[in-house]
Amino acid sequence: VFNSLLDRLSAAFEQQRQFMADASHELRTPLAVVRAESEVSLARRDRPAGEYIDSLDIVREESVRLSQIVEDLFILARADSRQKQPKFEVVYLDELLADAVRSLRVLAADKDIELSLVVAEETAVSGDESLLHRLFSNLIHNAIKFSPNGSIVTVVVSRTANTAVVKVQDQGPGIAVEDLQNVFKRFFRGDKVRNRDVGNGAGLGLSIAQWIAELHNATIEISCSDSRGTTFDVKFSLQN
Ligand code: ADP
Repeated sequence: VFNSLLDRLSAAFEQQRQFMADASHELRTPLAVVRAESEVSLARRDRPAGEYIDSLDIVREESVRLSQIVEDLFILARADSRQKQPKFEVVYLDELLADAVRSLRVLAADKDIELSLVVAEETAVSGDESLLHRLFSNLIHNAIKFSPNGSIVTVVVSRTANTAVVKVQDQGPGIAVEDLQNVFKRFFRGDKVRNRDVGNGAGLGLSIAQWIAELHNATIEISCSDSRGTTFDVKFSLQN
């Protein structure tokens, strides 16, 4: 018993160490960019205004990226230490998703992507509204991020007597078969070729989505993924 306890402790310690190492690695690149960009700008005092504006643009973009990574890391650190106590209340999935879709519309519009929400009937689950909002925003954001311009992203809410299902479908390139078992792991990003134009996430979105699903006794799975697109299913069990 003692040995197995020690083994588990050492595995947890190793996991924590890896988390710290990966987190520092993710923060290093944007920080290096911010630093280099400001140093280069300040090295000469007589640059044309346009050059300063370009530099500030880069510094701003990288700072936004840094804040996002730090916020994601914070969520996961709190998840690990079980500090976050979810606030369970009645949440209407149709309203929640309408909200998530509304806030992501501008990103979709940027890529000329049609973002549609299909709701069969009003469906309530017991959940933490802000965490569920984050779960679905992460999935919809990915769908937009990885899909080609001019495609369609559809969010479908349906229910049976015992389950409520939310599907997030896109017409993107699909997830490589060898990546399917890894996409929910922390810091995992798909192969560079597929992610070429969108490689600006830290690979934390799906780990966070999965943690939130688990907190709600919900499941999250990839129900299909091929060259025609990817569908993520989130299933809640309904107690009536
Ligand atoms: P990030 O989006 O920051 O890369 P995620 O944890 O959200 O991190 O996703 C992990 C990886 O899973 C992504 O890098 C991508 O390769 C793959 N992925 C996630 N969602 C999709 C999607 N809708 N279509 C294709 N690939 C996806």
